Parts: sequence; structure tokens; C-alpha cells
Amino acid sequence: MGDVTGFYGKRRKWYSWGYEGEEIPAEAVKKMANRMSERLGVGELEILPDPTLDDIELRDPRISIPRSLESFCTSEKWDRVFHSYGKSFKDLTKIYRRDFGNPPDIVAYPKDENDIAAILDWCGDNGYAAIPFGGGSSVTDGFTGPEGDQYPGSVIIDLGNLNKVLEVDTVSRCALIQAGTLGPSLEDQLRPHDLTLRHIPQSWEFSSLGGWIATRSSGHYATHLTHIDDMVESLRVVTPKGALENRRLPGSGAGPNPDRIFMGSEGSMGIITEAWMKLQGRVKFRANASIAFKTFYQGANAVRQITQAGLFPANCRYLDEQDASFYGAGDGTHSMLLLGFESADHPVDAWLERALEICCDHGGTVTQKAGSDADALKTSRSGAQGNWREQFRYLPRLMHTRAAMGVVSFTFETAYTWDKFEAVDTEIIRRIKEAQKEITGGGIVCRRFSFLYPDGPAPYYSVVAPSTHDKSLEQYQALSDVASDAITELGATITHHHAVGRSFRPWYDKEVDPLAREMMAGAKQVVDPKWIMNPGMIIDRPPHFKMVG
Ligand SMILES: Cc1cc2nc3c(=O)[nH]c(=O)nc-3n(C[C@H](O)[C@H](O)[C@H](O)COP(=O)(O)OP(=O)(O)OC[C@H]3O[C@@H](n4cnc5c(N)ncnc54)[C@H](O)[C@@H]3O)c2cc1C
Repeated sequence: MGDVTGFYGKRRKWYSWGYEGEEIPAEAVKKMANRMSERLGVGELEILPDPTLDDIELRDPRISIPRSLESFCTSEKWDRVFHSYGKSFKDLTKIYRRDFGNPPDIVAYPKDENDIAAILDWCGDNGYAAIPFGGGSSVTDGFTGPEGDQYPGSVIIDLGNLNKVLEVDTVSRCALIQAGTLGPSLEDQLRPHDLTLRHIPQSWEFSSLGGWIATRSSGHYATHLTHIDDMVESLRVVTPKGALENRRLPGSGAGPNPDRIFMGSEGSMGIITEAWMKLQGRVKFRANASIAFKTFYQGANAVRQITQAGLFPANCRYLDEQDASFYGAGDGTHSMLLLGFESADHPVDAWLERALEICCDHGGTVTQKAGSDADALKTSRSGAQGNWREQFRYLPRLMHTRAAMGVVSFTFETAYTWDKFEAVDTEIIRRIKEAQKEITGGGIVCRRFSFLYPDGPAPYYSVVAPSTHDKSLEQYQALSDVASDAITELGATITHHHAVGRSFRPWYDKEVDPLAREMMAGAKQVVDPKWIMNPGMIIDRPPHFKMVG
């Protein structure tokens, strides 16, 4: 049978973030609920107990494991339950409602590409949905199987056993890494070589290299190397049609880059098994500062000038007043910019000084600053920077408590160009507030910039609203739809880094040119002629395509 304990030999919790045994004490949840009810101006919130496996009713598996695959496949309850949901508010609310209406039938834990090929052959022969699974941190319904009977079974392919750094090229600073490797073990394996991938999404602890590539995640760097795409040198992918591997090259002008079709394909084109990744030296020099701005738009102008000046800060988190207050990075009266520069090679004080000049030109007040390396490390772990960092790291462990409290709580993210930033941002906030008044009777919406480009920001919005256990899911969906409609109608993207999944598919379909989508369908037809790979993600079979194979 398979192994679900991964590189560190510990089993994860199936209903929230973290490992088994890391429970959040009931008093801590009560305290959070009291803070939440105060923030929302509502009475005491009813906290649902954590679900147990015995609470969950699962339909029987619709398909049986053939003898040839028995050594690495299972239909045990725990495995099917753990792989039923990602980690969005919607997922967690369904988990707390004990609603497991569409579990996978079988979970496979392949140990190598032969196992993967065998599973894909079996799924292809029988028309079962074959769904890759990395860390399971999807917040967009990225790996739930198709509903209905178009696919008689669904099989999750958990890549947790493919968790090694296989080869390190210290001269070119690259490594060949297996796709199922989660963030911490990836860095642990690179550390002895004094190298780092330095791709640290907030979900880093429980998300995988293959998942990052398949969803085009954004990580540590606020500017320059934000998307994982920028660090991919070459990929190896096992598709139902066979394995495909591209040449390791620092850059090439030989036609369209074939790896690109797999980046962001969300499991619909095949299973990424390995990637050569471009690495960095480990950070030796740092400089950082915190800057307060009276209004969000004042600071946004400073941030735009910083990115356009080619300064490329590693950290450029810009939080509005409410977001800053929530993260303990401000008192709620000012927007806060947390700015950081870093290098493995040279001091970065000059970059910080120039950025601070720009902030002061835009009316910013420097509240915390450190230039030399030792000081900078200290400040990044204290005051506004430290509070923000601690909250950022710890918050995922508390996500499920919002579902347990029966409030509505979700985030959405996008990107659009600077020329329309203020108008689009104002309109998005207006529409959400209006919808909150109508749907939940009020609530909070705040935003920050996590990632930035010279031609535009990637704003990230957080929405919290009062609700009740019987209504929170439906009210979430209504508010989320308002946000997605606004984004699409105002010319922004439905996702900058969380991916499309099932959740945002209708808006993705409006965003991308139909001819481009048909081109991608043509590519899928070639590598996945029976259309078994993660059905429902990104690409549907156009009616005129014929099944081949
Ligand atoms: C608390 C929290 C914080 C987050 N913060 C960030 C953030 O800072 N930045 C960010 O970009 N995202 C963030 N996310 C979203 C999520 O972590 C990313 O989408 C991440 O890249 C998913 O990786 P995973 O390994 O968990 O993939 P999974 O959730 O397992 O799968 C996601 C999708 O990728 C496909 N897939 C997975 N592995 C492979 C593979 N090897 N080959 C082909 N397809 C595959 C799956 O089929 C699915 O469609 C966050 C999520 C949470 C819960």
C-alpha cells in the first residue's frame, strides 16, 4: 500500500492545515471568535466542533483496484477523505458541514514514472478521471473529480513519494527536483549546497514543486522572480501519450518554449514528474524598512515608482490600514509598506536608500529601518515586519477556524495595469461593500499588494462578513461571484497566482480568447487523446474533436 507520510514521515490533518497532533486549543479558537465578533459587530459566534472521521459518510468506491496496481493504490476512507478537498474557505466549510458528496474512488501513491504510466494506462482504458495531487493546498477546487457519470471513476495520483532533489549542478546553479517535493524538504535538501530556490508561497509548508508549476504560483519575491515560471529551466512530464522532456537551456529562441504549455495547465496535460530549476545563492546581505502612508493611493504611487526605477525589492508588501492592523503591522490609521532588499553577493543599502527617497517624496514616514545585514535580519523579525511575518507564517494553521465559526471569510487576487489602478480598485471595493450590505448586512474588505510589476500591481483582497452556519457557503459564493464579475468586467485577470481550478473556470473562459483556448484543446488532444487528465480544468473538449487513441 501507499505511504502518505511524505519526506518527514508525519501524517497530515485531513480537515485543516498542519500535522496530526497539532491541535489548536479550544480556548484559542474561542478567543479568535470573540475578536471576530467584535470586528464584525455581531453577537457570540457558534463554533462547530472539529469533524472526526466517524462523522463522515462516504459513498462506496465505484471502481476496484486491479491486482497489478494494488501495491501503491488504496480506497481506504482516510485517504479518500484527505484527498477530497483543498484549503479554500469553501472547502473548509464543506468539511465542517461533513459534506463529502464527491470523494475520489481510489488514491494512488506512485513511487516512480513506471507506476504513473501504469495508472494512466488503466485510467485511459476505462475512462476514469486521472487527477494529479501535489500538496493539496489548492484554493480553487483544483483536484476534485468531475460530478455526474461522464467519468465512471476518479483516481487521485498523489506525488508525495517523488520527494527528492536528484542532482545539483553547482556550476550553473540548478537542480533536478522531483515534483512531489514540498517546500521545507526542498530547501533542506538544497541547503548543504549553499543554494536555495527561494520560492516561498504562504502555503510553502504543504505545497509541492509540481503543484507550483502546474498552477504558476508566486512566491517570496515581490518583484522580478515572482512566478515559478521564471525559475524553471526544463520540465519532464508523463502524459497519457508518453513521457516528454525538454532540453536544459538557460534560454533559447528556438520556437515557442514547449515547457510553457504545462506551466499553469493544472494537471490537464499530464503529470509533471521532475524539473530542472534555476537556483539562487543563499541570502547574505539584507536591508529593510517599514514606511507609513496616510492614504493607500499615496503609497501606491510610491510603490509604482520603486518598481519602475528598476530597484526590484525582494519584499514590497503594501498593506492598507485595515490589513496592516489585522497583521499587527500598524494601528489601523495608516497604510504600511514593508520593504526589503536582499542579495547573496553585495550590500543592498544603496537600493533601500533610493527607495526611501521615493517614499518620502510621496509623503511616506519611515517607522523602522535597518541597513547592515545583522540589523536587517533583526528588524525583519521584530516590529511591523516581524509581526507581519509571524502572522503570515502561522495564519494557515487557523484558516479552518473561520469555517468553524460560521462567518464568511475569503480572499481573491488579480492583476491589472497601473493606468487604471485607482479606478479599478475603487470600483472593486465599492461593489464588494454594496454586495456585503445586500447579502450579509455588512462586513470588511481590505487589500494589499504582494507582487508588483513595472506595468502594474497584483492586488490581493480579503473579505470577511457576518453569517451563520446554514448560510455561510451560499453567501460566500454570492460575494465571490460579485468579485469575479467585477474583475472580469473591469479588464483585470481572474487570477494572478491562485490558479483557475473549477472555482473560477467561468471567468477564465471569458478572459482568454476562444481561438487560444481551441489551440490548447488541440495540444491536449495530442497528449491526452482520451481526455482523462483532470477533467474540468482549463480546457474542455470542443464538440468537433474526435476521441482518438
Ligand atoms: C494558506 C494558503 C496560502 C497560499 N499562498 C499562496 C501564495 O502565496 N502564492 C501562490 O501562488 N499560491 C498560494 N496558495 C495556493 C496554492 O498553495 C498554490 O496554488 C500551490 O501552487 C498549489 O500547490 P500544491 O502542490 O498544493 O498543488 P495541489 O493543490 O495538490 O494541486 C493544485 C493543482 O495542480 C495540479 N498538480 C499538482 N501537482 C501536479 C503535478 N506534479 N503535475 C501536474 N499537475 C499537478 C493539480 O491537479 C491541481 O489542479 C495558497 C494556498 C493556501 C491554502
